[in-house]
Amino acid sequence: MKKKILVTGGAGFIGSHLCERLLNEGNEVISLDNYFTGQKRNITHLMDNKYFEVVRHDITMPFMIEVDQIYNLACPASPIHYQYNAIKTVKTSVMGSINMLGLAKRIKARILQASTSEVYGDPQEHPQKETYWGHVNPIGKRACYDEGKRSAETLFMNYHWQNNVDIKIMRIFNTYGPRMHPHDGRVVSNFIMQALKNKNITIYGDGSQSRSFQYVDDLLEGMIRMMNSRDEFHGPVNIGNPYEFTIKELAEQVIELTGSKSKLIFNPLPSDDPLQRQPDISLAKKELDWEPKVQLREGLIKTIQYFENLIRNGEDIFPDQRRTYS
Ligand code: NAD
Ligand code: UDP
Repeated sequence: MKKKILVTGGAGFIGSHLCERLLNEGNEVISLDNYFTGQKRNITHLMDNKYFEVVRHDITMPFMIEVDQIYNLACPASPIHYQYNAIKTVKTSVMGSINMLGLAKRIKARILQASTSEVYGDPQEHPQKETYWGHVNPIGKRACYDEGKRSAETLFMNYHWQNNVDIKIMRIFNTYGPRMHPHDGRVVSNFIMQALKNKNITIYGDGSQSRSFQYVDDLLEGMIRMMNSRDEFHGPVNIGNPYEFTIKELAEQVIELTGSKSKLIFNPLPSDDPLQRQPDISLAKKELDWEPKVQLREGLIKTIQYFENLIRNGEDIFPDQRRTYS
């Protein structure tokens, strides 16, 4: 049945793919975004669809609309972006969640929170299960994001317990794919851009820290399954690819796939950078009958093609939009 769906952060990397997929499934979709890290170019190809609507708005301000479902994705996700205006990042997670939960409460919409594996911080338990409470430095450089997202989870649970709001929480692990911002500083986009330009590949630390990389299509499948899961299931649920790679292995794979002449260089590791990260996805398997399908190699090839096109068309240089994030 056709639904009316609000996607906050709809012009971002994941949000734009989500809008596209929800439209393809026959829904009416409203993208809400303040374009801090999102780009209009991510959604221009959807503009001709009469069931797609675009709103420029900041979720730290109240917003009124009538919809059936809300996917709350608005929040900068890359460390350089979320640390650019740390206070605003906290406001986006906290005030933004309050505004979107208040909206969901008034209009009786189901609301899904895009939480993150960062709620586990630098984990002492490996792999991470949803029952693990995490190991986060509350006064570190990543705290604006980690603690903001942890507070958002608290708000979601309490709006559910106190006001019976129909909530879903998913913890997303590192996700990559086409439409990542070429200058967002995240490891996959950085390495691919550096490799395609034959520049040095910047490994932070000795490259032995690990991450588990999930291709965006797998995430979307998990996200939509979570939104439409049974009424009694609220999460949090981990959605990520359990295959774990070191950052050095990722760099070597990118060099191989791009045929690049780039050399690896080693820079200092940023503070509080988690040493390892791998999702335990047994809950997602059980509740959502979901597991990732796309192998790292296959996903990287598609992502490399996207960045090659950007460079070929001279679209890899963007003005600094971050000044608008006040
Ligand atoms: P992104 O930066 O590409 O997208 C975030 C979008 O939110 C952007 O379009 C940005 O302009 C918008 N936004 C930011 N602050 C806003 C505000 N105050 N009001 C309205 N819009 C605002 O990042 P992404 O990778 O697409 O991440 C989307 C969501 O998924 C985020 O909530 C992020 O925390 C979560 N997540 C992503 C990953 C990942 O690996 N990509 C991992 C865990 C969680
Ligand atoms: N990283 C790196 N070189 C880069 C960018 C990132 O070695 O050019 C490392 C970073 O220190 C971290 C890992 O890659 O250990 C993943 O970083 P990213 O910012 O993509 O995500 P997160 O740290 O939030 O998982």
